[in-house]
Amino acid sequence: MVKIGIFGGTFDPIHIGHLRVAEEFAAAFDLDTVLMMVAATPPHREPPVASPLDRLNMVQLAVQGSPVLEASDIELVRQGPSFTLDTVEDVRRAAKGDLVWMALGGDAYALIQSWHRPGDVLAQVHLVVLTRPGYPVDLMASLPEELSGCYTLKGDSYFHDSGASLRTLQVSPLDVSSSMIRETALAGGSIEELVTAEVLQYIREKGLYGP
Ligand code: ATP
Repeated sequence: MVKIGIFGGTFDPIHIGHLRVAEEFAAAFDLDTVLMMVAATPPHREPPVASPLDRLNMVQLAVQGSPVLEASDIELVRQGPSFTLDTVEDVRRAAKGDLVWMALGGDAYALIQSWHRPGDVLAQVHLVVLTRPGYPVDLMASLPEELSGCYTLKGDSYFHDSGASLRTLQVSPLDVSSSMIRETALAGGSIEELVTAEVLQYIREKGLYGP
């Protein structure tokens, strides 16, 4: 059985925090592949600054040396709004119906009630909420009652009636965000330590995030 993970994001741009926590997610659950899923039209936020193609290209450059991380354009090639549920169902089909793993930061998990059919997503993935500095997580308090009622606590994880699990994973605390990088770049500051050398070169060549 191939164990597939999904790590979605706007990646505007992809930074060292994304890469480090995605690697830690893969290692913690012995995943064969983590699909770095580039979001097309994020439903809950401002439109990204860089184009979908530039964000995908940056993700491809950032993961090229990794044996486990893989850039995915599934959400970019799909027409219409990109719902997590559609992505999960597409990836599950590729995984021959096995449950897939999905990671997201505490800030993203806090918005779960605004997702399209969150209950259907939770029933189909082992969801891993990654710790992120400044975003404390309360797994059950973030869910509406009809969803928290589907879970039973066993050890450090909650188990859904479907067999899917929900847990937090303590990852390296890296206080870095794409918005911090965009603001720093716009102000003419250095972002060298925050993105890979290949991504930095791409940003410079394309003139992204500049004044
Ligand atoms: P922005 O600052 O534009 O909101 P971001 O840095 O949060 O961007 P996203 O592409 O929105 O980046 O994030 C993709 C996923 O990565 C989300 O689930 C987010 O919670 C998670 N994530 C981003 N940075 C970190 C970090 N430093 N530690 C843990 N999780 C992170």
